Amino acid sequence: MFEIGQDWKIAALKTSLCACFYNGGEKMKEKYMMIALKEAKKSLKYNDVPVGAIILKNNKVVAKSYNKKEKYQSATRHAEIDVIEKASKKLNTWHLDDCTIYITMEPCLMCTGAIIQARIKKIVYATDNNKYGFSKQTNNLLEKNNINITKNILKEESIKLLQDFFKNKRQ
Ligand SMILES: [Zn+2]
Repeated sequence: MFEIGQDWKIAALKTSLCACFYNGGEKMKEKYMMIALKEAKKSLKYNDVPVGAIILKNNKVVAKSYNKKEKYQSATRHAEIDVIEKASKKLNTWHLDDCTIYITMEPCLMCTGAIIQARIKKIVYATDNNKYGFSKQTNNLLEKNNINITKNILKEESIKLLQDFFKNKRQ
């Protein structure tokens, strides 16, 4: 009888511990996504679509960047490409295996290709990109390359930033 009670207590403790870790993880992800969103806002200065990206290694921010397509009149200067370049320079290697990339929008095919080439194994993004997102254009691209993905982190905040941008553009 005593043992049953004990088991139940242990089970309850395990559940609450898991919940605690889970919430902690979510909160951390939101904290990092907030930094990426802050980067995204820098795109607005040059009338670029507001997309930001950061790269983390051992939970430390290694590089930050934002979309610079209009700023440099370059189709390839997406936030992800720029942040990969910056992180590689800083770490002095193109092998970013132990890094995580946070992006305020689902990466396009070009950027997903760059992420695969850089050997990044974890992607966290805020909102889907219904037009150019990799998941709309290919099947199982990340699964094939063994890349872990988390989405919908601060989704509403990113959507609002993008919507405001396009609304202002139309006016
Ligand atoms: Zn891209």
